Amino acid sequence: MLNRFKKPFLGLFLCLLGGLSFAQSGRFQQSVNYEMEVFMDVETNQYEGKQKLVYSNNSPDTLHRVFYHLYYNAFQPGSMMDVRSRTIADPDRRVGDRIANLSPEEIGYLHVSNLTVNGKPAQAVEVGTILEVNLPEPILPNSQAVLELDFNGQVPIQIRRSGRDSAEGVRYSMSQWYPKLANYDEQGWHANPYIGREFYGIWGDFDVKITIDKTYTIGGTGYLQNPNEIGHGYEDAGVIVPEPAGNTLTWHFKAPMVHDFMWGADPKYQHDKVVMDNGITVHHFFIPGEKTSENWEKLKEFTPKAIAYMSEHFGQYPYKQFSVVQGGDGGMEYAMSTLVTGERSLPSLVGVMVHELAHSWYHGVLATNESLYPWMDEGFTSYATNLTMGAIFPRREGNVHQGSYRGYISLALSGLEEPMSTHSDHYHTNRAYSSAAYSKGAVFMEQLGYVIGADVRDRGLLRYFNTWKFKHPNVNDLIRIMEKESGIELDWYKEYFVYSTKTIDYAIKEVKANGDKTELTLQRIGLMPMPLDVVITYKDGSQEMIYLPLVIMRGEKGEEAGAPKRIHTEDWPWVNLEKTLVIDRKMDSIKSIEIDPSKRLADVQPENNKVEL
Ligand SMILES: [Zn+2]
Repeated sequence: MLNRFKKPFLGLFLCLLGGLSFAQSGRFQQSVNYEMEVFMDVETNQYEGKQKLVYSNNSPDTLHRVFYHLYYNAFQPGSMMDVRSRTIADPDRRVGDRIANLSPEEIGYLHVSNLTVNGKPAQAVEVGTILEVNLPEPILPNSQAVLELDFNGQVPIQIRRSGRDSAEGVRYSMSQWYPKLANYDEQGWHANPYIGREFYGIWGDFDVKITIDKTYTIGGTGYLQNPNEIGHGYEDAGVIVPEPAGNTLTWHFKAPMVHDFMWGADPKYQHDKVVMDNGITVHHFFIPGEKTSENWEKLKEFTPKAIAYMSEHFGQYPYKQFSVVQGGDGGMEYAMSTLVTGERSLPSLVGVMVHELAHSWYHGVLATNESLYPWMDEGFTSYATNLTMGAIFPRREGNVHQGSYRGYISLALSGLEEPMSTHSDHYHTNRAYSSAAYSKGAVFMEQLGYVIGADVRDRGLLRYFNTWKFKHPNVNDLIRIMEKESGIELDWYKEYFVYSTKTIDYAIKEVKANGDKTELTLQRIGLMPMPLDVVITYKDGSQEMIYLPLVIMRGEKGEEAGAPKRIHTEDWPWVNLEKTLVIDRKMDSIKSIEIDPSKRLADVQPENNKVEL
């Protein structure tokens, strides 16, 4: 997630959440306020805590049950994550059979006891990674309930995302560590077992106190409330931090308007702080060494640059801090922070930071349900990453989205593709998931610029963020914004590109002379219809464009900056497989004709898109 620098914003967001127009649209949003205290024993790697949660049921429904996620129970032999990781056709090598081989001291667990609702004991059953709770009394519509519990956990050996003693030697990567209430929305409960991927949470304010051995430095979500007591690089300039009386320190964090809380902890962390002109503080936490120190020093230049670029292009980062924390097993996004592996080359380190930071917009602030719409998070994050990297870390010439197009087209031609509407845990292969979510999701956005015009898409993306931030938009919400911004109907684009695996393939079938004119016949071979930009290049070097929107768009895009002059616009009803056009010039004056030289159309057979005469 990102950060924001002015307090009034947060207040405004809260007002919007309860706003009338949102409720009138038939949508509602639950809210939570967590207070947690946790004690971590760094010898046993076990922790104990208390949680008090004030839950606001803003739905029109009476709730008789609630569900909590207990993610650490996934890291046990025989868990759903274990079985799935071993039996999927193309296992994630970070997991494979590692869970099956964990000893009792190495597994993870998270158990809940003494659960009460408004002071009354509640019955709860632990079913793997979900706690099913029968409420002693129902929670009525538009009312609040106080849920209190004790929890105890063991941090698993680092396998996936969170854990202890990572491959790079980071002691604690504490994500998915606390009992987390499942979300309930207009589609009901989302009590998905933790099998593999992605999350969906409820916004609220977190107040977290972590007690841990005093040698450990913590970085992650939230704002430290007692920096001058804690030190570890958080103290104000010039402050002498008193030596703690005992062996532990209690770190007190507050995090307003987030849907998750992560922390990383290690006694060897170096903590660097950069304060941006707009007041946002960037924190870096890494273990100094030959493979880290030099590149993490350089990273201090790029994280602020990336925050500034993304705030300008995708919407203002709404928090006051962002922390890049060495830990985890690759790169993973959390509220106001990320866990990334740190022993990387500079391009790789900057690339992973930019990607995880970009999640602050799509995972953090828009927070689409990532299980149901992983492409709206990973895909748009990849799209934003491509552009940001192109702007702040120029490495190569050419189209920054090229890799995303290659990934999608390779999947489409592989026979393994599944529709992007597939639930992220239910894809048949890891490859189909990742190429759809990351690559096709990015292509969706870049290609949308081809359909409605790049500048209109850019404005639409900002409008999408500003309209739907902190509201969990779904695919229809996005499409409606883009329709309103462009004046073009886009339901067909969603239905083909998201809900089906039909592909795009247009071709130039024939070019022939007809006296002083030239006849051009185009062909639709693929099952997905698209508007066409057909560019004619003449032997004198000049270019002209024929534009063929679809009838079902009920509109057309405006002239795009840098595109050749449009000489002709004509609808192409999608049912027709061929279309013949007459060009008012002699064939021998034409050098070449090409469908979409901008290469934004995700045509799976681009070889037949161009004819040289
Ligand atoms: Zn990602």
